[in-house]
Amino acid sequence: MDPIEKKPLYHFYPGRHIFSVGSIGCNLDCDFCQNHEISQADPGTYQIAETYSPANLVAKALAIAGNIGIAYTYNEPVVWSEYILDTATIAKDAGLKNAMITNGYINEEPLGELLLVIDAFSVDLKGFSESFYNKTVGGRMEPVLKSLKQIRKAGKHLEIVNLVIPQLNDDKRIFRSMIQWISNELGDDTVLHLSRYFPKHRLGIEPTPLHTLEELGAISREFLKFVYTGNVQSGQNDTLCPNCGHMLISRHGYSVTCAGLDTSGKCISCSFKLCDR
Ligand SMILES: [Zn+2]
Repeated sequence: MDPIEKKPLYHFYPGRHIFSVGSIGCNLDCDFCQNHEISQADPGTYQIAETYSPANLVAKALAIAGNIGIAYTYNEPVVWSEYILDTATIAKDAGLKNAMITNGYINEEPLGELLLVIDAFSVDLKGFSESFYNKTVGGRMEPVLKSLKQIRKAGKHLEIVNLVIPQLNDDKRIFRSMIQWISNELGDDTVLHLSRYFPKHRLGIEPTPLHTLEELGAISREFLKFVYTGNVQSGQNDTLCPNCGHMLISRHGYSVTCAGLDTSGKCISCSFKLCDR
């Protein structure tokens, strides 16, 4: 059980917990992978902790008090999307929510199948150039942009994570064009998480300076209503009503208070609808 904020999903059942499962493998090979112990593991030799049929996994999720659903996370869910499709279908029928934490590197047709049963997506947009995706991520950017548009068009909840890495994807001109693309193609109410990078896997660059996150955050807020900073103690993580400025959700670590929301996720001051809860 993880706080939903840990996924990160900030505008989807805020303050609640979700049963979170993962496996091994990935369809990308990021130099900076934060989970390489599982993402790049060998399926032939890796010690899997436990295995569940889709029906058994849903039964386990249903047995946990206060659980809102199942998050498919930790490694890349796209590589076990058939299992997710089977499981999420049963979970949805049982009244659970399904959330996928993904790199968005998936073809239109299988994503279309998943969109029938997945309620919320947290998608990494790792940078905004094909050369960055090619050299550092081990894939292509264009399919990810297509996925983001497809998820948005389907009306599913979408939050984007951008891990800011010094020198590699923090060019302000390119970053600004990414934010403008998000605003124009996905809407200015798209939730964006700017995440601080720490050295991991094959990348030894120093952690992202805090002033870089502040500067890129300021650029993001020129175009987007909801911008948060992750992996930072002093990050901007409260949600203010974009309509009237009332404090809707305050967050300190994973301690979350939704004092400004009514039970249907609307601002208590002006009735602006923020989220389901
Ligand atoms: Zn309001």
